[in-house]
Amino acid sequence: MAALDDLRAVLDPTAITTDPQRMAPHLTDWRGKHRGAALALLRPRNVEEVSAILRWATATRTPVVPQGGNTGLSGGATPDASGAAVVLSLARLNKIRAVDTQGDTLIAEAGCILADVQQAAANNNRLFPLSLGSEGSCQIGGVVATNAGGINVIRYGTVRDLVLGLEYIRADGAVIHGLKPLRKDNASYALRELVIGSEGTLAIVTAATFRLFPRPRVSATALCGLDSPSAALKLLSLLKQSAGERISSFELMCDGEMGLTLDLVPGTALPLERRHSWYVFIELADSDPSGRVSELLTETLGTALEQGLLQDAAIAQSETQAKAIWHLRFAVAEANRRAGPIVSHDTSVAVADVPAFITAVEAMAADCFPEARTLFVGHVGDGNIHVVLLFPQETPRDRLGDLATVVNERVFAIIGAFGGSITAEHGIGRSLTGALTLHTQPEALELMRAVKQAFDPLGILNPGAVLARP
Ligand code: FAD
Repeated sequence: MAALDDLRAVLDPTAITTDPQRMAPHLTDWRGKHRGAALALLRPRNVEEVSAILRWATATRTPVVPQGGNTGLSGGATPDASGAAVVLSLARLNKIRAVDTQGDTLIAEAGCILADVQQAAANNNRLFPLSLGSEGSCQIGGVVATNAGGINVIRYGTVRDLVLGLEYIRADGAVIHGLKPLRKDNASYALRELVIGSEGTLAIVTAATFRLFPRPRVSATALCGLDSPSAALKLLSLLKQSAGERISSFELMCDGEMGLTLDLVPGTALPLERRHSWYVFIELADSDPSGRVSELLTETLGTALEQGLLQDAAIAQSETQAKAIWHLRFAVAEANRRAGPIVSHDTSVAVADVPAFITAVEAMAADCFPEARTLFVGHVGDGNIHVVLLFPQETPRDRLGDLATVVNERVFAIIGAFGGSITAEHGIGRSLTGALTLHTQPEALELMRAVKQAFDPLGILNPGAVLARP
């Protein structure tokens, strides 16, 4: 194709492929829900090559779909079926450019794997606190573009709270040099904040400056069995009183999800004597080596037992046991992928509303979808609950799209009544563009379209993601 020949003239030959086999994994998402086609897969080696690609895309009006680790759960990194777009993988921009232990900052390129960034911080006796089930594959560009959350948000916030500076490339190829490690900067509009969470629709992220934190020297991990989400929130209040800012994670899972995880993901085991209706995963951590986190956790869980807030608890006695507990939590997405036809949500409500929200969803599902199992898992300390409806295996796969539309409408109606959000951390991608239009104030949507127009006047950056096509 003539347009690609122009690109070949300015790119290293290893940066462009049209080989169907090499392209195949980049044309579908992690769950296999979305499938697309592309003109080529581009794998630039550096910022200059990314810029050259965007100049070419602007000149030829070619849509560009950026892709990181391809672990996103909303279809944002999968091109549409037209085959008109190029997939732009940032995987080869994978250098840690700097670690500053005086200012506690780290600069990572977009293609760095999240786990490698955590390790780079640890090698410098610091903590990079972002932690997700996909951390072994997802990349810095992807976590920035989705404003990822994960299990440590309760203490450290989402990616937006961790980014100090951003280097990104505009649709026309201009590089915006914004990696300043400043903790205070009020010089006009916070453009960086617009790019974070924009899912590749406003700019291509090439590097980010992150805050680092003191590395925890002591930690304590527990898995608790309890009766209800409201008991979980009472336990969280108790823990806040005793452990305060030492709470790094506080996660909730229903027994249905626990059962799927134990059945479907090898290497998982329940460290409690019996099954319970609900489970809470807790991690306390302290950068002070004399911090009494184990004692605090044991004492608080003892008090909770006496108060009848929980039935049982397993406190990890070693790092191996702590890892095994977290493996149970991280394996949920894999269990859901293997479980069968599911429709899942990434909702959030005010933390105090979580129990009532769960009850409302359970009642709706029992009424409208009695054939489905309704499951819940999530970051309850942030009010972020993943609602999962698992339909019988015999459900025809081609019915799933229509089913999802109906289920979404019902769940989002409940979310609306609670004043919550239809997506807390996974983003809109291509899955929820219609829902965003329905559930956003029209004036706010107008502003979003104006922002898109300002960053990407030709509409070549990830078209069809986030904002529905006009
Ligand atoms: P991709 O999937 O490749 O892309 C995601 C979006 O970002 C797409 O719209 C893409 O176009 C855009 N994008 C990618 N790179 C760039 C770039 N350089 N510049 C501009 N746009 C770009 N998410 C959470 O928030 N919390 C969790 O706890 C969590 N747990 C997960 C567990 C599992 C097992 C899995 C599979 C996913 C989980 N996710 C979670 C979702 C996903 O991992 C995150 O959204 C992650 O941030 C995506 O990173 P990625 O590199 O795979 O991005």
